[in-house]
Amino acid sequence: MNVVIELAYVVAATLFVIGLKMLGRPDTARRGNLVSALAMLIAVVTTLLVAGLDYTWIVVGLLVGGAVGAVAARTVKMTQMPELVALLNGSGGAASLLVGWVEYLRAPDAGAITALSIYVAIVVGAVTVTGSLVAWAKLSERMTGKPMLFAGQKAVNGAILGGALLLGVLFVVAPAGAYPALLAVIVLGLALGVLAVLPIGGADMPIVISLLNSYSGVAAAAAGFAIGNSVLIVAGAMVGASGLILTQIMTKAMNRSLGNVLFSGFGAGAAGSASAVEGEIKPITPDDAYYVLEAASSVLVVPGYGMAVAQAQHVVKELADLLEANGAEVRYAIHPVAGRMPGHMNVLLAEANVAYEQLVEPEDVNPTMELVDVALVIGANDVVNPAAREDPASPLFGMPIIDVDRARTTFVLKRSMNPGFSGVENPLFYKPNTRMLFGDAKATLGSLVAEFKEVVA
Ligand code: NDP
Repeated sequence: MNVVIELAYVVAATLFVIGLKMLGRPDTARRGNLVSALAMLIAVVTTLLVAGLDYTWIVVGLLVGGAVGAVAARTVKMTQMPELVALLNGSGGAASLLVGWVEYLRAPDAGAITALSIYVAIVVGAVTVTGSLVAWAKLSERMTGKPMLFAGQKAVNGAILGGALLLGVLFVVAPAGAYPALLAVIVLGLALGVLAVLPIGGADMPIVISLLNSYSGVAAAAAGFAIGNSVLIVAGAMVGASGLILTQIMTKAMNRSLGNVLFSGFGAGAAGSASAVEGEIKPITPDDAYYVLEAASSVLVVPGYGMAVAQAQHVVKELADLLEANGAEVRYAIHPVAGRMPGHMNVLLAEANVAYEQLVEPEDVNPTMELVDVALVIGANDVVNPAAREDPASPLFGMPIIDVDRARTTFVLKRSMNPGFSGVENPLFYKPNTRMLFGDAKATLGSLVAEFKEVVA
């Protein structure tokens, strides 16, 4: 029987690896998701059977869990996906915390290695739960995206971390009598999660989310060690490692160091500290914008979170096709942190069948930005904010952006003068070569498409 169980775990672990690999490409991602889900099914059913649960309960659990998942998948809007991801990270942390806790209650006098695993599962799980909840509140704009700072914050966080580590040592050395210490660790971990994420400004949230994702994996792997479940160790390690790689990609994309984001309260003073913006706003109508676009031979589309809100990806593609038919070269510049989750813009554009070859990275397009006739900024804000380049007082300073302010003409499609997620005002809107196309991006693009079609007809 043991051989069958181990074999099932090996199959599940192999499918996890294959699924993860497939998730790396848009054309295989859907199947990758299914392969990973199948792996999880095998792992969960095997584990429950080993634990002595009969099939009835397993089927009931699958039906209840499956129904919750199906309803969530159907009702959550695409724009709410990042919040859902934050909640899922938190759930992973909560599950590991509970597994570690229950394992301790089951066998309080386990050896030091198990005690260490339980401790890591609990403390990292606790930080992940509350950290993810704060991230969710920030992403869903239930809480301000600006950094929330108070006097002595670093000292308080340092004291909590020190306390949790000290209690951890006491617990690991003599776990049997250290239940109160473990309970205190849970409280400290939960507090640390809140206090660590509160000071992080909106623009730096991508780094925090990928880090919390990694934490949920580390906690799961530790829980796997605590209960001696090899497939949980493998799955947790994969989530932990891929989350860490993503964190590294995000820190590089934003030109931050991890320590800087976590400990410096980036954006302290936030919007108010940026120097005053000069220039005037110049709105333009779709009718007038059409003439400029019609004459353009090089157009750069820069999508951002607003494109996701407006669900404008299909009409973007429609306009791009018309521009190409009119002889223009159209490219899409994708900033790694555009939108609210890694790959957000890529997913939307893939949905609209935009060819992969048309996507360009900021560093590829920035050196030749002067040659771009029209930069079409569709619901992007922070990722095109020149303050990141020009204003050392800005919370965005140092983050590489897409330099659309250096294009010949820039059209910004947005509804109002509201700032982006970071809460920082954008000097781009006041530059001499910028024209504001106010309104919902989908409606504005629809008007531009109509203009093109009218002329052709
Ligand atoms: P921003 O959040 O900076 O700006 C979005 C813009 O879209 C707003 O200015 C808004 O202006 C506009 N908008 C909203 N709805 C519409 C609509 N229906 N039609 C037209 N415009 C609309 O977006 P960016 O993509 O430039 O930047 C992403 C930000 O999110 C960065 O700060 C990034 O760090 C952060 N972030 C990114 C994550 C990631 O993984 N990618 C995760 C977490 C945070 P208005 O209201 O006036 O219309």
